Amino acid sequence: MAFAGEGGSDGQRKLRVFFIPFFAASHIIPMTELACLFAGHPGVEPTIVTTPANANLIRPTLDHHAASGCHVHLLLHPFPSVDLPASVENLSTVSAEESWKIYKAVELCRDIHHKLLTHHVPDAIIADIPYWWTTDIAGELGIPRITFHVVGVFPQIIMNNLAKNRVHDNVPNDSHPFTIPDLPGPSITMVKSELPEFLRLHDHVTHAWDNMKRSQLESYGVVVNTFYELEREYCDLFKVVDSQRAWFVGPLALRGKREVEASFNKERCMRWLEKKEVGSVVFVCFGSWYHFKDEQLRELALGLEGSGKDFIWVVRGDDEKMKMEWMPEGYEERVKEKGLVVKGWVPQAAILGHEGVGVFMTHCGWNSVLEGLSFGKPVLTWPLVFDQFINERFLVEVLKVGVRVWDGFRSSSENDKDKVVVPAEAIARAMKKFSESNEEEMKKRAVQWKEIAGDAVEEGGSSYKDLNCLINELLMFNKKKKNGSQ
Ligand code: UDP
Repeated sequence: MAFAGEGGSDGQRKLRVFFIPFFAASHIIPMTELACLFAGHPGVEPTIVTTPANANLIRPTLDHHAASGCHVHLLLHPFPSVDLPASVENLSTVSAEESWKIYKAVELCRDIHHKLLTHHVPDAIIADIPYWWTTDIAGELGIPRITFHVVGVFPQIIMNNLAKNRVHDNVPNDSHPFTIPDLPGPSITMVKSELPEFLRLHDHVTHAWDNMKRSQLESYGVVVNTFYELEREYCDLFKVVDSQRAWFVGPLALRGKREVEASFNKERCMRWLEKKEVGSVVFVCFGSWYHFKDEQLRELALGLEGSGKDFIWVVRGDDEKMKMEWMPEGYEERVKEKGLVVKGWVPQAAILGHEGVGVFMTHCGWNSVLEGLSFGKPVLTWPLVFDQFINERFLVEVLKVGVRVWDGFRSSSENDKDKVVVPAEAIARAMKKFSESNEEEMKKRAVQWKEIAGDAVEEGGSSYKDLNCLINELLMFNKKKKNGSQ
């Protein structure tokens, strides 16, 4: 990628940018992709600040980039002591019961970051949203802190509005629909049970929310993994109400080279897909950390089988789940012609990019939203937690590229016991109905998004320009600071 503007190989010291990702694969992967893009600029020296096990996740990607001359450094600190097994350092590897310890570890990073940043004094910090204190540290050091968001602008605006207006506090019950206030675009209704837990209860996000928002608004600007054309009117509003400056640089999955996933089941999935007809396979994946309860896994297994469709299904879970005792007897043998069940991790972006995949059954995590669109796949939506029900509205009601798997009661609770088990028949029905009725129109729209997303990251596209702009602003800030005018 060629960059225009300030800095370069003129013998001056490079701009040292520190990237600090939250402890979850879905944050670390796109932030690494962003750091690698920065490394393509001759005037920039990016460093990722993280812990040893999280560094292992991204090392293959960093090595790959280093081989082509783009170096991203790693600055490691120990994972804070929160009584987790060795090497369990992110949401993707922790058990559901112990996930709160990851958030505890985040809080404990405050002092670690202060020590590291005041010792190394970078020229700019790009830190994930939970690390709100980095705006204050950047202020002490007289350098810019950019807030990094893996969540799209549409869900951010809705969550902000609800956190401010709290219209959901006045509904008679959890299933009573209400309209999101102050939102551009089509009117969107939600029900309370589907709102992120932090808006309904008092959790770790509620606790940190005011600090995170203040820190975002006081930070130099916000960089978001989205692209302007996708969320145009929401991006315009976001620039005014939620940031001093904003850059929309995604989809990062289309821009980075995702070596992180290369070794995990890639060959197996690709070989299996090669034998399938174009557009015949439903790819079923629910992100990097959510674990279904056994009963739901069993119903899902039977639903996929009952649909009669070809599928690749990624099953995640702790060691207990991975023993597959929940699986109906003889299941894998029975479905082996139609279905591939993969335990753990697959190369999602590569699978979505394969022409054999026709539909993406997704939990609507924002990375998955972007990746589905980037590869032009319509979606069957099954949101589970946090912003995912809001993202579903975006896919189904704003973009009209998907339909819901289940229309009964749904809860965004992270606690399994609050979720209604979606029965196998409903899953099979949704899959059949989708391909019989709506698929062609949705496919067309999804393919259009693929083209628009591709254009955004190409030279001269909106995301390409925004990234250039961000880097140049940081270089300029640094130059002015050195000249004493910042
Ligand atoms: N992912 C993957 N393989 C898997 C599961 C997830 O590559 O088996 C990647 C996926 O491509 C996406 C990220 O992990 O980039 C998941 O992020 P998302 O925001 O969709 O969901 P979350 O993990 O936060 O629930």
